[in-house]
Amino acid sequence: MSTKNINTFHTQRMFIDGCWVHSSSGDTRRIVNPATEDIIAVVTEGNEEDSKRAIEAARRAFYEDGWMESTARERADFLVRVADKLEEHAEEIAVLETLNNGKTMRDSRNDVSDSVDQFRYYAGLATKPHGQVYDVPERMQALVIAEPIGVVGQIIPWNYPLVMATQKMAPALAAGCTVVIKPAEQTPLTILKLFEIIEEVGFPPGVVNLVLGKGATVGAELASNASIDKISFTGGTKTGKSIMKSAADSIKKVGLELGGKSPNIVFADADFESALDHALYAIFANQGQVCSAGSRLLLEESIYEAFIPALVEKAEKIRVGPGIEPDTNMGPLISEQQLYRVLDYIEIGKNEGATILTGGKRINRKGYFLEPTIFTDTNPKMRIVNEEIFGPVLVIQTFKTEEEAIKLANGTPYGLAAAVFTSDAARSMRVIRKLRAGITWINTYHATFNEAPWGGYKQSGIGRELGTNGFTEYLELKQININLDVKPSGWIETTGYS
Ligand code: NAD
Repeated sequence: MSTKNINTFHTQRMFIDGCWVHSSSGDTRRIVNPATEDIIAVVTEGNEEDSKRAIEAARRAFYEDGWMESTARERADFLVRVADKLEEHAEEIAVLETLNNGKTMRDSRNDVSDSVDQFRYYAGLATKPHGQVYDVPERMQALVIAEPIGVVGQIIPWNYPLVMATQKMAPALAAGCTVVIKPAEQTPLTILKLFEIIEEVGFPPGVVNLVLGKGATVGAELASNASIDKISFTGGTKTGKSIMKSAADSIKKVGLELGGKSPNIVFADADFESALDHALYAIFANQGQVCSAGSRLLLEESIYEAFIPALVEKAEKIRVGPGIEPDTNMGPLISEQQLYRVLDYIEIGKNEGATILTGGKRINRKGYFLEPTIFTDTNPKMRIVNEEIFGPVLVIQTFKTEEEAIKLANGTPYGLAAAVFTSDAARSMRVIRKLRAGITWINTYHATFNEAPWGGYKQSGIGRELGTNGFTEYLELKQININLDVKPSGWIETTGYS
């Protein structure tokens, strides 16, 4: 696919209060195709002032202009229309995602399809019953109703630019919140397209706002501004900690979807070919830039000798190239900075004494391509075993017993995902129950669904996205206690002792 038709001299703007606007500073940012290093777009670069403008618009839309009182059916109608339009433009958006992020077209198409589904799912959920009725004593009736939290700030990373946006926006809008969202600096293009749809569908001004710019300015303002009622963040654990600290001053609600170093445990009795195939998919899908990537392969020692040569042979068959080409299995990393960050980790691994079985080098061509890389001879103290590399680098650990596998698996500060490969059904459940992770698999990897809650244990996050939990994260509960016997209570005439 040629990128010639993309007009690099047209600066794309932010969407605030129902209008396309340039940043107040007039600054711009160049957006790069990581497969070619070409500039494919120029976007406006916002700052704190722009975030404040968007927050004010979202606040007015919620508290003064009536979005707070919108009906579930009205909101569901908006969401269904967004889903329809996204679907109508699916292929164009998938191409844009691949050009901007580098991921394969297969991944981009799946992402767009997930986004469509998220808008449909939350449109459906909006109109379902959400309250509770309690039978309480003293001739009273207690009700609980669910109300939108209010103005929501949303900050997302670059690895799933469209899906991360829609899995936050769809439930927040369905719940009746207003939204200010900030994509990662590197990947604004598909969310800009989504906002063309938002405009076309005709949400009232201020209900959905898009701000562009750096995390340290535009993002930090969303996290600290007291007019934001909830901040929902997906990104690195270090950034998540700083967001939580900024949010503390105004006690705003916080949702965090953070990093991982997820274990993929393969027992000797697993189906060999299936475990092999999934071990590669677990780490090399999306170039390893997946929060839930199976970046640690825990192998039972007795199959090490057979498994490793087969793993290396298959890894070397992975076709690395531009995601836009139909044969590509693995695209480029997102940026030169990310490529060097991953290469630094490869050096760290070598210096720590681990052995590279395959890969380890930048590929000699234009674009930010890296060879699929596998390390063995590791130990649990190594940085490459404990820290999230966020690239196509697999580290192998070995174990002798089930207990040892569980201990190694739980041995990092993260707790996002984990998988177990075995043909022993009882063992699979026994092990899964002991793993401290929010997303787990038995005899598969990466399969997840919009219907089920997504999120991490430990330092991988707080709260859940997707499913019904993803919706309730944007709701407050209000109890209403109704007196069924209206008369004076007599509290002056009586005491607690009478
Ligand atoms: P990052 O934390 O550097 O950036 C994420 C977003 O936060 C970007 O939009 C960035 O501009 C913004 N940001 C940066 N500093 C900020 C600050 N001080 N205040 C407010 N906003 C700020 O992460 P990244 O490199 O873009 O993404 C990779 C990370 O995201 C990995 O750790 C990955 O595991 C994680 N991730 C987690 C999930 C999940 O569901 N748990 C999903 C995808 C990615």
